[in-house]
Amino acid sequence: MTVSATLAGKRAVITGSNSGIGLGVAEALAAAGAEVILNSFTDRPEDHALAADLGKRHGVAARYIAADMSKGAECRALVEKAGGCDILINNAGIQFVSPIEDFPVEKWDAILAINLSSAFHTTAAALPGMKARGWGRIVNIASAHGLTASPYKSAYIAAKHGVVGLSKTTALETAGMGITCNAICPGYVLTPLIEAQIPEQMKVHGMDRDTVIREVMLLRQPSRQFATVDQIGGTTVYLCSPAADQVTGTTISIDGGWTAL
Ligand code: NAD
Repeated sequence: MTVSATLAGKRAVITGSNSGIGLGVAEALAAAGAEVILNSFTDRPEDHALAADLGKRHGVAARYIAADMSKGAECRALVEKAGGCDILINNAGIQFVSPIEDFPVEKWDAILAINLSSAFHTTAAALPGMKARGWGRIVNIASAHGLTASPYKSAYIAAKHGVVGLSKTTALETAGMGITCNAICPGYVLTPLIEAQIPEQMKVHGMDRDTVIREVMLLRQPSRQFATVDQIGGTTVYLCSPAADQVTGTTISIDGGWTAL
């Protein structure tokens, strides 16, 4: 079975990709030969420089398109400005933690918009072109929290369960058309977002770095090891490869055993 993919001639749009998992997935797709479109809501010189550098290193076309994934019209405009796409990675996401009764309504609305509705809008914009070309790959970056729950993360968990449901529906609506749609469900991945939480957790728990990672942050991840952005990128490339032509409507957990518990 081959899990390598030659993605030359394919254009990939990756939402929320100026850092963390999105950037790692963009690296993996570019390394496999795809043209990549990076995105976030900012429009700074360094965002465009990031895309230029990535393209140069991998010898592929690469652009950065600013678009706010909390706004449906901008989600659709991202795909249109890219000129359509063969590979769509819905990755943009934010988090907020609070008991339900205190959960700020604007945070609930923002998480549902960025983590869930953006994938609906980009998928709607990308599908006509994919259907016309008879090939497409949609990979939605959900979470272990798309399959299980934890307290105080109501909006995130509702949105990520929604992403898993949207992925299954998209798969059914495109079955047999050369298009697949799947959700990747990572456990904890050591991204800048998670790295930034470590000093605070060390302070709160009075533990050293290794202990707080092992005993607090990775308590639910039986391997007690972070997943890596490279592993998410490699799995994405696999889902874009011929080996995964019949893999659709499913979830792939990369969570060190979390959802086996
Ligand atoms: P991150 O903060 O590094 O990346 C989030 C990306 O989304 C950034 O590029 C950010 O700029 C972008 N973004 C935020 N709001 C946006 C908006 N309104 N419009 C456009 N882009 C926006 O975090 P990450 O850890 O790389 O997370 C990426 C995805 O992976 C998220 O969907 C997250 O829920 C999911 N995830 C992360 C982990 C983890 O442990 N890191 C685990 C499971 C799932």
